[in-house]
Amino acid sequence: VSGGKVIFVGAGPGMGGELTLTAKEWLEKGEVIVYDALVSPFVLLHAQGEAEMIPMGKRGGRTNPTQEEINEFLVKKAKAGKLVIRLKGGDPGIFGRLKEEISALREEGIPYEIIPGVTAASLCAAVLGIPLTDRDRSSSITFLTGHRRAEGKAPELDWEAASRSGTIVVYMGILEVEKNVQRLLAHGVPPTAPVAVVRWAGTPRQELILTQLKDLPQQAERIHPPALWIVGELVRSARISSIPPRPIVTLFRPERNPEWEETLRKEGFLPFPCPLQKRVPSSGLAEKIKTVLEGIQKDRPCYLAFTSPVAVESFVEAFARENDLRRLNPFIIVAMGEGTARIWKGYGILPELVAEGNAGVEDLVKLLGEVPPGRLVVFQGEGGRWDPFASLLLKGFEVERVITHRMEPLPSFPEPLRHALRGRWIQVAIWTSPSQVRIGLKEEVQSLWEGVRMIAFGRETERALREHGVIPRTLPVSTLDALIRTLQEERITLPLLPEEAVP
Ligand code: SAH
Repeated sequence: VSGGKVIFVGAGPGMGGELTLTAKEWLEKGEVIVYDALVSPFVLLHAQGEAEMIPMGKRGGRTNPTQEEINEFLVKKAKAGKLVIRLKGGDPGIFGRLKEEISALREEGIPYEIIPGVTAASLCAAVLGIPLTDRDRSSSITFLTGHRRAEGKAPELDWEAASRSGTIVVYMGILEVEKNVQRLLAHGVPPTAPVAVVRWAGTPRQELILTQLKDLPQQAERIHPPALWIVGELVRSARISSIPPRPIVTLFRPERNPEWEETLRKEGFLPFPCPLQKRVPSSGLAEKIKTVLEGIQKDRPCYLAFTSPVAVESFVEAFARENDLRRLNPFIIVAMGEGTARIWKGYGILPELVAEGNAGVEDLVKLLGEVPPGRLVVFQGEGGRWDPFASLLLKGFEVERVITHRMEPLPSFPEPLRHALRGRWIQVAIWTSPSQVRIGLKEEVQSLWEGVRMIAFGRETERALREHGVIPRTLPVSTLDALIRTLQEERITLPLLPEEAVP
């Protein structure tokens, strides 16, 4: 009526790699994202930063809403004209209480669509290296829920039919495992039937057990939900494989950096890029750049120094609106740190001077102290350190500064990050600026970070972390190589954080 609708989207199991392209498209468009507890935090990263994201599921979230409350919420948001994404783990139509939510929408005449997802059984079978059906040995599959609604209104499960089925998959199979095994045995499934239990398939917490039906209750004692089990002849050829641990590393850089992400992935880490701030370019920047360009003197060197990647980005955006990059030819480009230099390289420009180290502006000033003096224009963000440049005046430099941008905190702490921290998924946090620290470690969210290793780029970031009571590992030089080396060293001692700590 008002244009609102609800899209039920399957998030798949695992870490987010099973998300379909259609699901991703809807997530990118959604204005309100209502997500289940088992949804991977990586899936939430596809939503727009401005979307309202609310955890609503049976597990993990702060609140534990009733089905009624969830229905009402969906109806309310859709009636307000919103595009609501109801995001569920796996396939929304398999043990996802889809019917209840659909009925509520139908009653109100609210349109909906269903976007299927990969169900947990598919991923678990894939992890075990087996098919779920087979022409000779298993021509049907039964999906069962191992534990039923408390009210007991649902009809008895058809265990008899299930026990004749080729392959049986029991979802939510841990809490009442004993009872369920008894039922299958009572209906004629042989006690020696092979069983595979899979927990948290496709995630760093994955656990696998191969056993026989009669031994399952005892074996399953050491497994906690979420897990499912598969019974059937096909399980006989299942293999126990382990996925190498891939520590999850969060990055807060305001702009995504594909090279960092790729390198981290290649080195066995899973990057979780989640900016805490957004960059707001300074007004009148193009004008200021124009003045600088016109002030070029033929007889002295003119240095353009950039103190961060985002300073370069803001500069180029403003500059390229009216100019050709070749106009920079007479200038000497100076970059603070490899990351800043890299952005220039992306535009096909190799900075003549790159300051290394981890002292930030001091490294830059030191480097400039070693070259012939001239005119120096420093491009930096609001709040960037400026005092140290004064020492260059004594060396004969003429120094000025242009503010390229300011960093603004996002209106609220990013929900994907909150979800990831609450689920204790993140093992390492990489801080690249003091302002990130001030936002990311605000008091309200400080307790979420317990147990997470912190790595600092630069002494200034380290100082900010110490002010928040955190003692980080500070990189000797602020480079990607140094980061990877440090992570490799830490890795050996990186434990998976205990899930029990989930509030
Ligand atoms: N709609 C989901 C199922 C929701 S019920 C789907 O289609 O997959 C939740 C149950 O799914 C869990 O108790 C567990 O049995 C199973 N499950 C979900 N994700 C899983 C995973 N990554 N590994 C193993 N089992 C999983």
